Amino acid sequence: MVSRFLSFLVLGFLILGCRDKASQKNGKAPQAPNIVLFFVDDMGWQDTSVPFWDKRTPYNDLYQTPNMERLAQEGMKFTQAYSTAVCSPTRVSLMTGMNAARHRVTNWTLHKDKLQPMETNHKTLKFSEWNVNGMSPVAGTEKAVHATPLPQILKDAGYYTIHSGKAHLGAIGTPGENPLNLGFEVNIAGHAAGAPQSYLGSDYFGNGKKGKEIWAVPGLEKYHGTDIFLTEAITQEAKLAMDAALGKDRPFFLYMAHYAVHTPIMADSRFVQKYYDKGLDSTEAKYASLVEGMDKSLGDIMDYLEDKNVSDNTIILFMSDNGGLSAVARGGEKHTHNKPLSSGKGSAREGGIREPMLVKWPGKIEPNSVEDQPLIIEDFYPTILEMAGIENYETVQPVDGVSFLPVLTGKSMDGTRPLFWHYPNEWGPSGPGIGASSTTRVGDWKFIYYYNDGSMELFNLREDIGETKNLVVERPEKAKELAKILSDYLRKVEAQLPSRKDTGEQIAYPDEAFQ
Ligand code: CA
Repeated sequence: MVSRFLSFLVLGFLILGCRDKASQKNGKAPQAPNIVLFFVDDMGWQDTSVPFWDKRTPYNDLYQTPNMERLAQEGMKFTQAYSTAVCSPTRVSLMTGMNAARHRVTNWTLHKDKLQPMETNHKTLKFSEWNVNGMSPVAGTEKAVHATPLPQILKDAGYYTIHSGKAHLGAIGTPGENPLNLGFEVNIAGHAAGAPQSYLGSDYFGNGKKGKEIWAVPGLEKYHGTDIFLTEAITQEAKLAMDAALGKDRPFFLYMAHYAVHTPIMADSRFVQKYYDKGLDSTEAKYASLVEGMDKSLGDIMDYLEDKNVSDNTIILFMSDNGGLSAVARGGEKHTHNKPLSSGKGSAREGGIREPMLVKWPGKIEPNSVEDQPLIIEDFYPTILEMAGIENYETVQPVDGVSFLPVLTGKSMDGTRPLFWHYPNEWGPSGPGIGASSTTRVGDWKFIYYYNDGSMELFNLREDIGETKNLVVERPEKAKELAKILSDYLRKVEAQLPSRKDTGEQIAYPDEAFQ
């Protein structure tokens, strides 16, 4: 810890020292870039007017996200960017740089020390004691992964670190529940829960509702009783926090982590009418209004940066934490909301994990560019630190992510690197690809192994983006190859596997199950 602190101190002096010298020369301090990570909750790959596939879909015509279009025109669009299938594993990977198989926060968190009822009540599987308490910045927190959080490193290097919106990084009553313990200097509305009780200021964002306290959005008291939507309130507060950063003449890191478009699916009254007019059912119209409200926030932040004349030195990254919800709570037919992708949130199929991702970096990234390089959420950690110019940082955890900065500047990355997902858990709803599973993607090939019944799927994503044709029988040698790559990785990172409830026996690794 001491050596880490010293190295940051030295780094800080170096950064500040260089700035001072430059200031003396030309009166203007060159500054590390500001970084805005615009992170949407539960937004699907098709919930936008920006086409992320090689052709437009009816969803691209339905949803209106003009500011995402603007960001795509000014930056780079990633067509094969991945998160995990549910909230907390993704968020912990983002903040630690670790793959979920290693950090073991493999399902969503809320209550301290407790497995969710759908896990304890599972018919056939007994689940391991995964890290139900999320991440922790200090050693010794039980059932939590101890890690050096991304914002802590940024803060130690001189960044003003702002958290606005949903945190969902640690269970109630643990250090990780409070963003201020994770290296953020400002926390707007973030706590342990992964959804708001209400999006409405007129509802006090759910505060004061008996029995619903854990879901009530904290802070934001000045908006209580007013006619404001949560998406707007946390954006306005983020702008005030950026004002404070600019006043301090420090680069800032804004983690703009929207509660939208997670349930409860409530109408954002500023936008909902046009979707009713389009003939959508009530739920889908409300959902589309949540999406457009989120997009308005993006536009407001882009406008703010331009007005303050800092746009040229600000990087914006846009990402979502899992696929679009499709198994429950949506209008229309289940499992179709991310088409052409299969399934949605909670699924190992592409609809559960493939995300809309955009990056703008003036002067570095070619405007209006498209990148097909597959990458995964833990890659953001080393990338953001490299963007900030922070080198030789020390972390208590091994970092699995690989910086995608070369891709941003027109160079290539290793296209053969396998990507891994590990979900030895139960989410609740059912549907294609939903259930305890482990997955790898190697090149165009994707292999999924299901713990409940030992079944396997092999897809060629280049030829079959909808994962309609399971090729395990047709291409057994390819399936076997990927099962081995996946199993070797799970063993290497000591991933947790479920057991059979009746015999207590651990379920076989994918390569053991392959007969
Ligand atoms: Ca989510």
